Amino acid sequence: MFLKRLDIVGFKSFAERVSVEFVNGVTAVVGPNGSGKSNITDAIRWVLGEQSARSLRGAKMEDIIFAGSDSRKGVNIAEVTLTLDNREQFLPIDFNEVSISRRVYRSGESEYSINNQSCRLKDIIDLFMDSGLGKEAFSIISQGKVEEILSSKAEERRSIFEEAAGVLKYKTRKKKAEYK
Ligand code: ATP
Ligand code: MG
Repeated sequence: MFLKRLDIVGFKSFAERVSVEFVNGVTAVVGPNGSGKSNITDAIRWVLGEQSARSLRGAKMEDIIFAGSDSRKGVNIAEVTLTLDNREQFLPIDFNEVSISRRVYRSGESEYSINNQSCRLKDIIDLFMDSGLGKEAFSIISQGKVEEILSSKAEERRSIFEEAAGVLKYKTRKKKAEYK
């Protein structure tokens, strides 16, 4: 499974529609401070279901909608679509290409879809569960996270490796079963 394309419109600093194509190999995003590099990873985390505005570096969810700049007035809708190659059926859905979309209005209303079929947030979370790409997975290491990992205690660091190795979900399930 790999990322094919990210379409952003009205999200944070991206007033106009921006399409990022991911080709084979490593993609690096470069640019001056404040030019919107981190906003791209925020967009990926958001479309994967991130619910915490703070974790997206805002105070409330409305802060992710383009608020306007010197040359352009703000917009009322933010929309992000992430398209993934699923030819190897890594995601448990019978499509070779999977597009997930999220849209939010200033009223706070959110809409989600999978391959243009509107769905619930839960459907998106479920689709990515155990895929290693969910919003909580270590597929995205934010600024400051490396520092946090390096300065953490050995036991805490162990859980990071367990999560990356896919062991944590079994441990979590085992714990749940034991409490029943
Ligand atoms: P650095 O190199 O410092 O990490 P960066 O390229 O990662 O910078 P970002 O943090 O992605 O930069 O982008 C910050 C910019 O996004 C700021 O200029 C900020 O004003 C703009 N921005 C964030 N939210 C919005 C919004 N809702 N509307 C308009 N602009 C926004
Ligand atoms: Mg940044």
